[in-house]
Amino acid sequence: MAAKKYKILFVTSEVVPFIKTGGLADVSSALPQMLAELGHEVRIVVPKYGIVDDRKYKIHEVVRLKDIQIKIGDKDVTFSLKSCFLPGQRVRVQIYFLDNEKYFKSRSSLYADPLTGKDYPDNDERFTLLSKSVFELISKLGWEPDIIHCNDWQTGLIPAYLKTSYKNDPLFSKFKTLFTIHNLAYQGEFKTSSFKNLGLDENLNNDNGILKNGKVNLMKSGLLYADVINTVSKTYAEEIRTDNDIGAGLKDILSKRKKDLYGIVNGIDYKVWNPEKDKHIKKKYSVKNLQAKYLNKEELAEKFNLKASINTPIIGIIARMFDSKGFDLIKDVFTDLMKLDIQMVLLGIGDQKYHTFFNKMSSKYSKKFACYLGFNDELAHIIESGSDMFLMPSQYEPCGLNQMYSLVYGTVPIVREIGGLADTVVNYDEKKDTGNGFMFKNYDSKEMLKEIKRALKIYKNKEAWQKIMKTGMKSDFSWKSSAKQYVDLYKIILNNN
Ligand code: ADP
Repeated sequence: MAAKKYKILFVTSEVVPFIKTGGLADVSSALPQMLAELGHEVRIVVPKYGIVDDRKYKIHEVVRLKDIQIKIGDKDVTFSLKSCFLPGQRVRVQIYFLDNEKYFKSRSSLYADPLTGKDYPDNDERFTLLSKSVFELISKLGWEPDIIHCNDWQTGLIPAYLKTSYKNDPLFSKFKTLFTIHNLAYQGEFKTSSFKNLGLDENLNNDNGILKNGKVNLMKSGLLYADVINTVSKTYAEEIRTDNDIGAGLKDILSKRKKDLYGIVNGIDYKVWNPEKDKHIKKKYSVKNLQAKYLNKEELAEKFNLKASINTPIIGIIARMFDSKGFDLIKDVFTDLMKLDIQMVLLGIGDQKYHTFFNKMSSKYSKKFACYLGFNDELAHIIESGSDMFLMPSQYEPCGLNQMYSLVYGTVPIVREIGGLADTVVNYDEKKDTGNGFMFKNYDSKEMLKEIKRALKIYKNKEAWQKIMKTGMKSDFSWKSSAKQYVDLYKIILNNN
């Protein structure tokens, strides 16, 4: 018997190539596409922010989904759902853009005001609208999904509406939800008074309901009411229900829902991140012509005003520059690092304290360290292809993409043993000569430094090093295997309920 094909409504707050702030946008494009290639019908709902280009993507009106009126708190809100297909894909995936001037179109940014860096004060209303739009979409369109796949706090109200407001509704009560946590640290917290904007029953307006420490918490809403929960690696799935810090105040709920909590590691998009096809890099390469990677190292060094040498490894870093990515560890031992026979390049944007520090260091150690403090996709590809090693000492890491890119580019990762890093990097064992990278356990700058020194020692042994590089390059991080695990999860949800 042919495997059952599902209808999935995928609700998210960002999708590549329209709009991206982080890994969620990559997943929201790659996973629906792969599910569609596997024969499932996937449709995406996402807000239409100011910078989404109607003409470029041929986004058009849908008559039945025009000028829909709902209430957010006591405000009357009118919105439309416009549509287009995910561009450049083999199988069609339809996207519905939530179009509303006040809440989305007039905003140049997704969650925070770019001028002040502060979250938009009406994010509660904005993402209530996103969640409510899903019910309007289904009823107006008459397209009934098997699963509503929700992603992160921005969609956390959907499972709550289904299990409370629509509990007895003949149309909606049959829909099941999967809630995927991409990052538990961002929870969508709002002051208590915002509860009235959500349109939920008053008996949820307390800490047994969707408040956490007296505040509305939309992540909690998703975790309480989704039929099944998953996150983006097995290790992170375990950490969030057992570790106080990583559990971020929601550990106990996750621990209670242990049997409904799964981990599925993200894949990577090989059309974009692949040293054999990468159009941003100087010389394409594979395990068969590894020496060509050196040309990319020269190119990288040149871009950053450094002088490349075969014997001196370049360590690359690409990350949002916040404490959570381990920048405090790097800062802590920076002087020691600069005493080693290495060069370092950094691409990042984030916390001002790190901008100031690394700018200063790039003048002080101009022959060994250089940085680009901004967002630059092309440079990210050049760093992955040209570096010898990649440093990622995160405090926590739900999945992490850059360590996977590094592995397939033969750029040996040095990472902390945490979350998705622990699930994708295999620590090099000198006795057995096995592994694809280097790993340290505790969040400790000295431990990190020690592991970097171990990598530098092995780097001198060209044969062992090439073997590590090749092992990484042969990894399979394709979305196909992850997408199949999602299908298995949909099956579990539908069979169990
Ligand atoms: P997170 O989602 O926590 O930021 P991930 O490693 O999952 O971390 O994904 C980060 C993505 O953003 C990667 O594709 C990475 O290359 C990219 N990225 C991060 N910072 C920059 C930057 N300054 N310039 C270009 N790309 C960046």
